[in-house]
Amino acid sequence: MLLRVLGDGPIGAVIAQANAEGHVRGYAVHPHADLPHTQARKLDVGGLVGRNGMLHVTRDLGLRTPYHGCAPLVSGEIAEDLASYFVTSEQVPSVVALGVLVGPDLRVLASGGVCVQALPGARREVIDELDARARRLPPITQMMSAGQSAEEILAVSLGDLSPHLGPLTPLAFHCRCSRERVEGMLSLLGAAELQALLEEEGRAEVTCRFCGDRYVLSETEVRELIARLNAAPPDLRRQADSDERRSKGKPKPSVM
Ligand SMILES: [Zn+2]
Repeated sequence: MLLRVLGDGPIGAVIAQANAEGHVRGYAVHPHADLPHTQARKLDVGGLVGRNGMLHVTRDLGLRTPYHGCAPLVSGEIAEDLASYFVTSEQVPSVVALGVLVGPDLRVLASGGVCVQALPGARREVIDELDARARRLPPITQMMSAGQSAEEILAVSLGDLSPHLGPLTPLAFHCRCSRERVEGMLSLLGAAELQALLEEEGRAEVTCRFCGDRYVLSETEVRELIARLNAAPPDLRRQADSDERRSKGKPKPSVM
């Protein structure tokens, strides 16, 4: 699943990606953007993200084309925007609460969230009760820093709905970038674009925005890529050319 928050705030686009194995990664285009805390002494997420823009959700469910939905941002405070997206775009009443606790040295001390969604046929009063309960809950970060586990936070969020716990998936940061993926991505630029890159920079350098790993392909390696592209059957070459046209203006795609 790919979540893209495209607001007009100073942090620029915020991208997060997760898969069914619990691997999570993400980045913000301008991670050093900063604003004073809000009056409630909280991070001004809404101000950083911006209140005008769109939230895009792409889900790859293994079907022929991935599912894509979007909704306008309502506040830039990701949780509110997600809840609004679920209601307006997917028509699923949802309660979303997110939080991040940042230490004085700007390190993330805790982060987490709760997302409760109503199944089709859920009674209106149950949804209203969940919503009312969510408004009374202490901030997620407060519960986390008090040592409450995910199960305990869920129990508090659901009240007397007696949840049944299914299989749990541990979450971990994991970046799937690799040299092979970088080469694949560069190949999509096409031989002409690679040749131009070589003439300009004498090599190809790609930094993964998710994890910061840097990949450098020497002149010889780029030449090998070009040779491989030129040796490819014309069908593949045409495909690469049209991909190149589609990605014009963005010669270095950053999602690998
Ligand atoms: Zn990476």
